[in-house]
Amino acid sequence: MKIAVSSGKGGTGKTFISTNIAAVLEKSGKQIRYLDCDVEEPNGHLFLKPEIIKEEEIIIDSPGSADMSKCNLCGKCQNACRYNAIALIKDKVLFFKNLCHVCGACKIVCSANAIVAIKRKIGEIKHGKKNSIDFHYGLLDVNEPRMTVALIKEVKKNTGDGINILDSPPGTACPVVETIKDADLCILVTDPTPFGINDLKLAVDMARELGQEPVVLVNRAEYKNDDLKNYLREADLELLGEIPDDREIAEIYSVGDLVVEKSEKYKKIFDVLADKILERVKNKQSVRIKPDKIFYNNVVIEKTEPISLDAKKPKELVIISGKGGTGKTSIAAAFCALAKKSVIADCDVDASDLHLVLKPELKKKGYFSGGSKALIDSAKCQSCGFCFDKCKFDAVKWKTENNKTVYFIEQSSCEGCGVCGLVCNYGAVSLKEAINGEWFLSETRFGPMAHAKLGAAEENSGKLVSLIRNKKNRIANEQNINISIIDGSPGTGCPVVASIAGCDYAVIVTEPTVSGIHDMKRILDVINYFKIKSGIIVNKYDLNPAKSDEAVKIAAQNNSNFLGMIPYDESVTDAQIEGISIIEYTENKVTKQIRKIWDKIKDECFK
Ligand code: SF4
Ligand code: SF4
Repeated sequence: MKIAVSSGKGGTGKTFISTNIAAVLEKSGKQIRYLDCDVEEPNGHLFLKPEIIKEEEIIIDSPGSADMSKCNLCGKCQNACRYNAIALIKDKVLFFKNLCHVCGACKIVCSANAIVAIKRKIGEIKHGKKNSIDFHYGLLDVNEPRMTVALIKEVKKNTGDGINILDSPPGTACPVVETIKDADLCILVTDPTPFGINDLKLAVDMARELGQEPVVLVNRAEYKNDDLKNYLREADLELLGEIPDDREIAEIYSVGDLVVEKSEKYKKIFDVLADKILERVKNKQSVRIKPDKIFYNNVVIEKTEPISLDAKKPKELVIISGKGGTGKTSIAAAFCALAKKSVIADCDVDASDLHLVLKPELKKKGYFSGGSKALIDSAKCQSCGFCFDKCKFDAVKWKTENNKTVYFIEQSSCEGCGVCGLVCNYGAVSLKEAINGEWFLSETRFGPMAHAKLGAAEENSGKLVSLIRNKKNRIANEQNINISIIDGSPGTGCPVVASIAGCDYAVIVTEPTVSGIHDMKRILDVINYFKIKSGIIVNKYDLNPAKSDEAVKIAAQNNSNFLGMIPYDESVTDAQIEGISIIEYTENKVTKQIRKIWDKIKDECFK
C-alpha cells in the first residue's frame, strides 16, 4: 500500500504530517516504510531520526565522450539528441553532461559504436531504521539539478510489503508526478491562507490529471474566512482532517521532535487521522477519468533559450528559500512595494502566488513548449515492443485489448527524447510539440511583471523559468528599468538553478526550525556553487530564537551576509487576505524590519 503525502506549496506541514502518521501507525503494530522522495530537500530524517545502516551512492552510466578511433564524425548523435547535449565542433564531439537526460538516443544512432559512457554520481540514498520503521531517503547532488526524477525512481525501488509512506516534493511539476502517480492514496496538505488555497487548487488539478482523486488535510486550521471550505465543497473534495494552529506544535516541530511523542492530545488526533487514512485506502474511490493529453493546433508556441549571461540586463535580485512556505513570496511582494518601480518576475512557476498580491493586469499571453511528447499510432503499431524495451523513462506502457498487446505512451512520464521513434521499424511513433504551460506579461502598480503557469502535471519548469527571465530582461531593456525583483522557486533542482543563474544577489528566506536550517544549508551549497553573492533573512525568528542564532552562524560560515530577522505576526496573513503587500497594509514591527533589510539590500545589490 502506497500513501503519498504532498502539497501544492512547501511549508504547509507535509513532512510534519507524514512523520507523525508514520510514528502512530508503527506504534499500532503496522509494518511501515518511510520513503522520502523530496530528494532536493529531504526532511523526514530530521524528525524520525533513523539510525542509518547503509549509504548508497547512485551512479548512472552517461554518455561522456566519443572514441575517436571509431568515430567517423557523421553527426548523427548530435542530430538525435533533443536536449543539445552533444555538439560536433571541427573534428571533436563534445558532450555537455549537465544537459544530458541519459535517454540513450546517441548510442542507438551511432553505427560506429563510438559513444563511451562515463560513471556519473547523481546523489545518494540513505537506508535506516527507526524502531521497526524502514527508512529510505534520497539526497540529490547539488550539481545534478536535472536528475531529480531519476533519483526519486531509485528511492521508490525501496517500496515493499506493508504501508509505504511517500513524502513527496511540493509543487505540481515532474518530481511530484513521479512520486504520486502510482499511489493508492494521495493526501494533499494545505493551510487556509490565500497562497495555500491557490496552491491546493493547482495540486488538485495535477492529481486529477494523473487519474488520482486526492483527499485534503488542513494544517494550521485557523479559518479567517470561508474560502477554503467553499473551494472544497465546489471541487467535491474530501476533507480528511484538520490540525489546529497551535504554538505548541510549532515549538515542538522547530526542534525536530514528533508531536505524537510529546503531546497526548495530538497523539489522539493523529491516531484518529491514521485510522481514517487506512479506511480510505481500503475503500479506494474510483478515480476520475483521466483526460487525453491536449495538443493545441494552430497556436503560437514559444520555446526558450538559455539565459544569456552576456546580454544587457537589469540588476537582478532573486528571493529564494531552500524550503517552501518560509514567507518568501510575502517578502518579495514587500520588496516590490519598497522599490516602487522595478521589473518583476515570478519564477515560482509551478506554485506561483505573487499575482495574488500584485494583482497584475494582463497585457499579453502565450503558450510555452519545453519539448515534445511521443504518440503511438495504433493502426501502424505491430506490437513488437522495441519502444517499450528502449524507453529509459518507463513512459511506454501496454494493455491487452481483443487478445492483442496494445502499446501506448504515458504522457506524464514521456520526456520527448524520441528514442521510441528511432527504434520503431513501422513508423508508428510520432513526436508532437507539447504545451507545458502559459506565460503572461502584465502591468502592476509596482512595474511590469513576467509570470507563468506550468500546466498541471507538466515538466520543463526550468525552461519555463528561463523564458520568464528572458522576457523580463527584454522588458527592462525596452523600458529602461535597471532594477528587477525575482520571486524564485523553492528547492535545489532545475527551476531554482534557472531562477538564480547569473543573478546579482540572492536573498535566502529561512525559518528557525531544524528543517528550515537544513534546507538553508542545501540552498547555500547551490548558491556558492554558482558563486552568487547572498544574504539571509530569518523569518518568524521569535518562534525559536536559539535556532535563529544558529541559522545566522551557519550562513556566516557559508559566506552569506546576515540581512535581518522578522518577527512572527498575523498581519502578514491578513495582508495576504486583503491581496496587498504588508508594506501597504500596515506599519508595525514586521514592516520596520523589512524596511531595514531593504535598505541593506539596496547597498549590497543595486549600488
Ligand atoms: S542523446 Fe540522450 S543520452 Fe545522448 S547525449 Fe543526448 S540526452 Fe544524453
Ligand atoms: S516514450 Fe517519450 S521518453 Fe520514452 S522513448 Fe519515447 S519519446 Fe522518449
